[in-house]
Amino acid sequence: MTCPVCKSARFGRYYTGITSWEYPGRFNFVCCRHCGLILQHPRVPQDRVGQYYNPQSYWGEVHDAWQEYAPLYRAIFKSRSSAGSILDVGSGLGLFLSEFKKRGWQTLGTEISPDMVRHARRTYGLKILQGDLLKLRLTGQFDVICLNNVLEHLYYPRQTLVKIHSLLRPGGMLVIVVPNIDSLGHAVFRRRWYHLQPGRHVYHFSPATITQLLESTGFHVAPMDHSYWRHNYYSWFCNFRYNYSLRFTVNRGTPVAHSSPGVKIGKVIVPILAGLGAMLGQITRHGEVITIYCHR
Ligand SMILES: [Zn+2]
Repeated sequence: MTCPVCKSARFGRYYTGITSWEYPGRFNFVCCRHCGLILQHPRVPQDRVGQYYNPQSYWGEVHDAWQEYAPLYRAIFKSRSSAGSILDVGSGLGLFLSEFKKRGWQTLGTEISPDMVRHARRTYGLKILQGDLLKLRLTGQFDVICLNNVLEHLYYPRQTLVKIHSLLRPGGMLVIVVPNIDSLGHAVFRRRWYHLQPGRHVYHFSPATITQLLESTGFHVAPMDHSYWRHNYYSWFCNFRYNYSLRFTVNRGTPVAHSSPGVKIGKVIVPILAGLGAMLGQITRHGEVITIYCHR
């Protein structure tokens, strides 16, 4: 095994015996001794990884595209005076791309899940290719390419970025949103951090390791953004929820009666603590996720 960031073959133990609140099993993470990249090792064979994708987590009830993606829309629309072309890698339900289609952009998505591809085509009339970007035959050059909460799932991040580089027109923009292992939430919750998500999240990047990976694949990286409030707040909320709520600590995922005192207190306190954590993370530039805008 070699590190996809620095190509070193020297790894040390990082976390052993990590458990998931959704799935049985124990997972290990290692750390590259040279660049500090954190990765799951061993990882689930790629043909069996589907079992770790609970459809409920990915078919959330989000209908308002601006509420969900406002920071990305603002940055992308500000960067261009006219409609362009966009490729969304891991386009999911298609909500993100739907706003570009409305504005007359040329849109294309790629998505592994056939169910989601069907949904995006049917609901928004989007053009989506089903499959892994690395295996798909794509031509043309795009003005913008997005990897929104996707890079941490990929088994071959370097090869994927090399392919994306070739699909981006010179001067085009790559937008990445990815969990930040160097976040305040991870410093507090460590092996119980929400974003570890063993089974699904195979790589954990920090601002340093993601910069090194992007620069070594030919991208120019602009200063990172730590202020994606929606993700920061949700991550802190889940940090508390999965670590302290009776539902996940005592009842193994089965709901607890809404009238119980623990639930009532939690409903008041958790949103306050989650808001504080998210705010502190943003101020200190240790956000739960980082948003990276880079150019070819
Ligand atoms: Zn490395």
